[in-house]
Amino acid sequence: MGSLGTVMKMDTVGRAAGAKYECLLFDMDDTLYPLSTGFNLACRKNIEEFMLKYLNIEESEVPRMCLELYREYGTTMAGLKVLGYEFDNDEFHAYAHGRLPYETLRPDPVLRNLLLAMPQRKIIFTNADKAHALQVLKRLALEDCFEGIICFETLNHPPLQPPALKSPILCKPSLEAFEAAIRVANLDPKKTVQTPSLIRTQTQLFFSLFDSFSFFLQIFFDDSARNIASGKAAGLHTVIVGNSTLVPGADHALRSIHNIKEAIPEIWDGDEEQMEQVIQAAAVETVVLA
Ligand SMILES: [Mg+2]
Repeated sequence: MGSLGTVMKMDTVGRAAGAKYECLLFDMDDTLYPLSTGFNLACRKNIEEFMLKYLNIEESEVPRMCLELYREYGTTMAGLKVLGYEFDNDEFHAYAHGRLPYETLRPDPVLRNLLLAMPQRKIIFTNADKAHALQVLKRLALEDCFEGIICFETLNHPPLQPPALKSPILCKPSLEAFEAAIRVANLDPKKTVQTPSLIRTQTQLFFSLFDSFSFFLQIFFDDSARNIASGKAAGLHTVIVGNSTLVPGADHALRSIHNIKEAIPEIWDGDEEQMEQVIQAAAVETVVLA
């Protein structure tokens, strides 16, 4: 990670501020911006066109197949690979995302200020490719709000692939993808298991490191119910975004990511002066974690 020095600083300050949470993992598409932008539909249309033009799949079959593979394998791309279709991953991503109307995404200063005021580590965890992630974050003016991006390229480097996967592509909602992301982000999901003995052990440990602390949790934000269920299974505290009612495995529900402060004020718990330091420390370049 290119900005490790600053990352360490943020982490230390975040803990010192007394926040209960250690790290926040954010999905990107339809989580950091609303579904109403139409990106989701435009992306699906591009993928269908790719299937028709480059994989020669029967036109009448394409929409159903696109949706079924998405449901079964996490992404249509992963499903196509399972079925034996051969294509270049970068070319697929360029076709699916390259022609999206990025100009319709506008800077979001409200979300930016919320993110910069959070004392925790913040990481993007998306199935999308690096180019798309960087483009979206740039358009939303959030590119310096995150410590790093865990994306398609991060998860699909050979060393991260466990053997005997259902699909050759590692992506949400598979539990293996969450486990890989937790490893890459250097998180300890065991910290989220709240048994009395563990809390006691951690309290002793962190009291020896920092003066005021009990234990830390990681929070995962996503607009997809199935990703939330997997996130919970992986040991994360979970927030469904874009939905005002809870789904199975969700600890919180947010109609919009903008409602985060009303729903989870604990994120900002801590000393105001220390929060100021965090805002300054957070202004670093986002790196792709690989
Ligand atoms: Mg999403």
